[in-house]
Amino acid sequence: MAKTFCIANQKGGVGKTTTAVNLAAGLVAQKQRVLLIDLDPQGNATMGSGVDKANLENSVYQVLIGMATAAQTVLYAPTAGYSVMPANRDLAGAEVELVDLENREMRLKLALAEIEDQFDFILIDCPPALSLLTLNGLCAADGVVVPMQCEYFALEGLSDLVNTIKQVHANLNPNLKIIGLLRVMFDARVTLQQQVSEQLMTHFGNKVFKTIIPRNVRLAEAPSFGLPGVIFDKSARGAQAYIEFGGEMVERIKTM
Ligand code: ATP
Ligand code: MG
Repeated sequence: MAKTFCIANQKGGVGKTTTAVNLAAGLVAQKQRVLLIDLDPQGNATMGSGVDKANLENSVYQVLIGMATAAQTVLYAPTAGYSVMPANRDLAGAEVELVDLENREMRLKLALAEIEDQFDFILIDCPPALSLLTLNGLCAADGVVVPMQCEYFALEGLSDLVNTIKQVHANLNPNLKIIGLLRVMFDARVTLQQQVSEQLMTHFGNKVFKTIIPRNVRLAEAPSFGLPGVIFDKSARGAQAYIEFGGEMVERIKTM
């Protein structure tokens, strides 16, 4: 049965989608069967996997409101090498429509039951908000991977996310835990980043992943080609780091 992870941080632009897409590709490089779920109406994970968000028969929106099954919605993304449950702007409407539906936080989890044994890993790219969409992701997950930049306010923002995860753990999903904090867009030449990185390790110990993702322009260029950075330029430092991170995740789940 698949292990399911949310890539979440309510801060915008911290590298969630880049992590979701490249961890998916990094896990494929480790011979894992991967499903990437795009839970963000921006549809960036969809496009970044080479799936055209403008031409979807079904998307995660239809799944959440019960108009399509997961099996009817998941596509194989051939260039990326993994499967995708895509999203586009339709999903913005789900936030309102879900409020009146039964099991509103559990709808993604219930939909995934049908297909989860086809995968080793299911990754969920969350939107930059602690919304009902993110809640559906957290209820479907075994754990949360938190990408973060080592900047001054990074730790402060983390406490809201940690509190939300605690509440979901207590009330909705007793399986949920933080798997780890992933340092991304890291620039070792910046003293402040080194300092924040050290603070993180002091506060969170082995909850900080060993792998560090460097700032690397090839990772930023890849989405405009509809490719994960790991496929676009496998030899680039950023790509290599995500492949290494895939290996670290494979090891991490053995102890779960
Ligand atoms: P949002 O909150 O809007 O969903 P996000 O958290 O998903 O954003 P990304 O879209 O992954 O963040 O990244 C934000 C920007 O930073 C993008 O332009 C992306 O290409 C770039 N980026 C992400 N990681 C790296 C990296 N390691 N090196 C260089 N650029 C990066
Ligand atoms: Mg994103």
